Amino acid sequence: MTPHTLFLIILTIYIADFVFGRYLSWLNIRSSKNPIPAELSGIYDSERYHKQQQYFRANSRFGMTVSSFSFVVIMAMLLFGGFASINDIVQSWSLSAVWTSIAFLGILYIANDLIELPFDIYDTFVIEQRFGFNKTTAGTFVLDRLKGYLLTAIIGGALLYAVIYIYNAIPQYFWILAWAVVSVFGLFMSVFYSDIIVPIFNKQKPLADGELRRSIEQFADRVGFSLKNIYTIDGSKRSTKANAYFSGMFGKKRIVLYDTLIEKLSTEEIVAVLAHEIGHYKHRHTMKSMVISLLSNLLLFWLLGIVLGNDIFARALGCTSASFHINILVFGILYSPISTVLGVSMNVLSRKFEYQADGFAKQYGYGAALVSALGRLSSDSLSNLTPHRLVVFTEYSHPTLYQRIKELNK
Ligand SMILES: [Zn+2]
Repeated sequence: MTPHTLFLIILTIYIADFVFGRYLSWLNIRSSKNPIPAELSGIYDSERYHKQQQYFRANSRFGMTVSSFSFVVIMAMLLFGGFASINDIVQSWSLSAVWTSIAFLGILYIANDLIELPFDIYDTFVIEQRFGFNKTTAGTFVLDRLKGYLLTAIIGGALLYAVIYIYNAIPQYFWILAWAVVSVFGLFMSVFYSDIIVPIFNKQKPLADGELRRSIEQFADRVGFSLKNIYTIDGSKRSTKANAYFSGMFGKKRIVLYDTLIEKLSTEEIVAVLAHEIGHYKHRHTMKSMVISLLSNLLLFWLLGIVLGNDIFARALGCTSASFHINILVFGILYSPISTVLGVSMNVLSRKFEYQADGFAKQYGYGAALVSALGRLSSDSLSNLTPHRLVVFTEYSHPTLYQRIKELNK
């Protein structure tokens, strides 16, 4: 294969990826106008439904603008040799191989971040604000951003350094060693996420005394889950939207309820949501997802190992010889069809897990309360009740509200 043929393949994959994304979005916009199924008729009154349709359209337009803009930028970079030019500049600094790659990827990270920044500001302070969701102050926004940069520089930088160092020092065992380093790091982060990352952005507290705590305690006792692993978090600092999640593994399991969730739902509904989260824990969903992601990363690193040392991938982008940073860029695009297939498979599995967690809540008599909790949360976040089937199949990590309610009411 010539570098030129490879370049055409890269372009084709990148364009196809964009077109597919736009096609899904178009299907979803068409489908959003469908009538709401009878089972969901009580979720919205007509005024709120009108608001939901406006919110959906605002988000669709916004998504279209963002993805088209970044598509045009990347296409221009590919067609006019932009990546090769940045590479020439960085190479002229005569840094070590490891630092050359870190500098190149750092420049792309910063450029990408600067391009995204106005869009993020618009999303938070215009769209979310207009529909009454935003609680983020300018101060919180700036601080979040700065903390994010610092974390990326420290954690991302260290990990990147390790991976590039391995590549330059022991290229023949790169894929397996880099995979091992990334896996150990991933496991560590997944176990200590709530202890290390969350406190940088939010305050977590054990459940306060009162009726809610007593009801939760009763339920937790019944199913053998320790109450000391249940926390509340100040989600209201950024948005009115409510949430709950399960995180951690081994001795560090934790269920976190947003303060906004506690505010919006009745005690019984909150216990139902908690039952769903405990369902994830009982079915060992975090552990199962972790094993699958370790295996899929193994495939990724093995393929990356093949691409990394090969000059043709660098020449396709107009560079003279292979380097970690140029080849990983090409790899990123070539891998995207595989990544899409793996992502869809993960979503299929994740939706299965959600049904199992719902089933757990139902088994303990919280089916009806979960139905009403899910309905209330959907209406509250103005969620789309009639997504297109193909969008659900490819992009949804959770079944739709309609599917979940139908299953819970069985
Ligand atoms: Zn869930």
